[in-house]
Amino acid sequence: MLNEAWRGAGSGGSDASPPGIAAALQHYAVAADQPVVVVSRPRDPAALEVARVRWANSAAADLFGVAAADLVDLAVTRLLPPDPEGAPPRERLSRERRSRYSVEVVTSGGVRRGTEVVAWPVPDQPARPGPGTSREEHYWVVTVAAPGDERAQAAVRAAEQRFATLAQSSPVATIVSDVGARLSRVNEAFAALLGLPAEQLCGTAWLAHVVDDERAGVVEAVARVLSGERVVLDTRLRNAAGQVRWVTVRLAPSQTPGYGAGFVGTVEDVTDRLAREHRLAYQAQHDLLTGLPNRLALLERLADLLAAPAEAAADPLADLRASTGAPPAAGAPARSRTGVLMVDLDDFKTVNDGLGPEAGDAVLVEVARRLSRTVRGADMVARPGGDEFVLVCHDLADLEAVEATARRVLDAVLAPVEVNGLRLRLVASIGVVLLDGLACSAEEVVRDAGIAVHEAKAAGGGRWALLDEEVRQRARRALRLVADLREALARGAIDVHYQPIVRPGRPARLVSVEALCRWNHPELGPVDPQTFIDLAERANLVPALDAHVLSVACRDLAAWRAAHAAGELPHVPGWVAVNVSAVSLSADDFAAGVRRAVAAAGLQLSDVCLEVTETALASDLRACRTVLEELRRDGARVAIDDFGTGYSSLAYLKDLPVDHLKVDRSFVRDLDAAPATTRGAAPGGPARAVAAAVVSLARTLGLDVVAEGVETFAQDEVMTDLGCEAVQGWLYSRPLTRGALVEVLRGGGTLAARPVAPAPAGGQLPSPRGVPA
Ligand code: C2E
Ligand code: CA
Ligand code: CA
Repeated sequence: MLNEAWRGAGSGGSDASPPGIAAALQHYAVAADQPVVVVSRPRDPAALEVARVRWANSAAADLFGVAAADLVDLAVTRLLPPDPEGAPPRERLSRERRSRYSVEVVTSGGVRRGTEVVAWPVPDQPARPGPGTSREEHYWVVTVAAPGDERAQAAVRAAEQRFATLAQSSPVATIVSDVGARLSRVNEAFAALLGLPAEQLCGTAWLAHVVDDERAGVVEAVARVLSGERVVLDTRLRNAAGQVRWVTVRLAPSQTPGYGAGFVGTVEDVTDRLAREHRLAYQAQHDLLTGLPNRLALLERLADLLAAPAEAAADPLADLRASTGAPPAAGAPARSRTGVLMVDLDDFKTVNDGLGPEAGDAVLVEVARRLSRTVRGADMVARPGGDEFVLVCHDLADLEAVEATARRVLDAVLAPVEVNGLRLRLVASIGVVLLDGLACSAEEVVRDAGIAVHEAKAAGGGRWALLDEEVRQRARRALRLVADLREALARGAIDVHYQPIVRPGRPARLVSVEALCRWNHPELGPVDPQTFIDLAERANLVPALDAHVLSVACRDLAAWRAAHAAGELPHVPGWVAVNVSAVSLSADDFAAGVRRAVAAAGLQLSDVCLEVTETALASDLRACRTVLEELRRDGARVAIDDFGTGYSSLAYLKDLPVDHLKVDRSFVRDLDAAPATTRGAAPGGPARAVAAAVVSLARTLGLDVVAEGVETFAQDEVMTDLGCEAVQGWLYSRPLTRGALVEVLRGGGTLAARPVAPAPAGGQLPSPRGVPA
């Protein structure tokens, strides 16, 4: 089809489409319905002779009244005789520019017809000439506008004019080429982009503003557009001030009657957008506070490392050596590994809560700086979040190298940090996972490192722990236990026991009870409450657990009340105390949940006492206070649990909405570790003095005091002497099953004191902590 449009030498039809500009010429001629001929003349000035026709299209054949094939090889002067007034046509064939002139052409019948002729040079094609073209020749495309075309020409000119006006006022940088790579027009926006007057950018001068290493790409793109393609390319221009601007250039081919194949393009300055995108890409991968790679970047790096073959890290030249039969490098470690060290600051929360978030940030930035200095160039320090940092360290030859690295990190953290004029000493715990040979995901590596950190903290903090098989097994058991606990909670299989709180005396009388959760695991048997509460905390199950215990306790109290009213039980607890952990308390729907549980059992808020630890209160004082104040206003009792072990200061205690203080059993326990009586000293020694201070503090504030963990007569005596209204402890009763408690109530709620055998020296707590093996 292409070649059919051409009649002439060399258009044999077997050739594939010619590249670049030759192809553009063919397109042009196919599209043009006006006469087009291509002429050439030898390059060699010595052989300079008259230009001859090389190709002609059918419109040209019609104009001249001959077959197109017969036009080929004709001297141009035969068709375009010298203009009597102007220069001969040969001299009009400029290599530099398009030339346009009016001339009379001679048809086959010898008729002369006035025409408008445009001749434009075809850029020389050094690489590969198109079909029928020769490297030895210069080529021109000559278009001839036949008479009678004036109206059409005027219409084209008007359209051009409209376009020019539009482009000129457009804020989009626009460039127009009538032919080849030369720009014939540019608008103000393009001139402004380069900071040069428009005239200076016409011709091929604009290419000089493409930065050197992009120029070949731009020339190639222009060649493609001239051959009829639409092209979009990103490239860089240098403006008059020497700044490099990133631009997106969109080029569309155009045909200008009388001129030839050119293009219209827009040039969009995307420098600022790219900078913004670059910034966003940076932010997606970095922690903005410390500038360290963030969790995403860490996971990507770990995923890459896990995907890489394990041996590659050991000896980078191993493959090469193997292929050349060379022995392994002398002194190379047998197997070098990559270690992932998770560094977690112990007690960072205290810094943050105590000194404020700005101080916390300053500490994190300082730690980030120190950690970055402890690792080598190829290693990574990331901050996945919070007070956690992760180091990825390569080439750890053996376990000693791992230990040395961990020690370096611990020491780096340990050096005092100055914040707000305070010298703080930070301590970190480190969990280590070795990557080599691991078949797991990046997330699992981070999770395992977290488990190892937990292990290091459980061992006292300020140390490092390697995630070995034993730890992994233990973590796996803990995970299973969490799943079982979740399931037990869903089934309502968590039981509640009740420990009497008594008014001391002989006999003592039950005042209220504390509800304590119990879990009898189908395979493991009873699980220590503190153990599974810790697990529940980590799995965010505590609010569900607390709610469950509260509703069971309310139902039970309502049932005892009903039995009492029916005359079946002579005595009932005045209220039931439940434990409320910090997470439960800070949940938005906590107060509503308490009201619902109480109402569902047909009780009043005054039938429950909420036991809250000082630590829970301290963590979010204002929010806790609002919730507790509101419930207390409507009758609920509030007790501070484990009093004396937290951060209580008088200043805030006096403002708290609280009714009872439960003195922690650690104060009570020591009461009989001291000599019973020495001359001049009160019974109980210094422990008594501490207990006395705590009780008198509570009394000053007008609060009821409950002594916890009372096991012996001596403890009971001291605490009652000091003025405790109530006592809770094994001396009177252990936590009881529902049935056992009902027996006590049936007996009128009196309890005989039965002392517990004295604890071994050092006063060990009875419930062992930690995950059961
Ligand atoms: P707690 O609130 O201080 O509860 C009192 C704990 O002291 C109970 O331990 C109780 O069995 C124990 N205890 C009472 N008298 C004595 C004594 O004379 N000597 C000794 N050595 N221990 C005594 P338990 O049942 O193991 O509960 C431990 C902790 O678990 C509780 O401490 C409480 O903080 C938490 N807990 C128990 N039930 C719940 C619950 O439903 N929700 C929440 N959030 N925590 C609960
Ligand atoms: Ca309690
Ligand atoms: Ca307690």
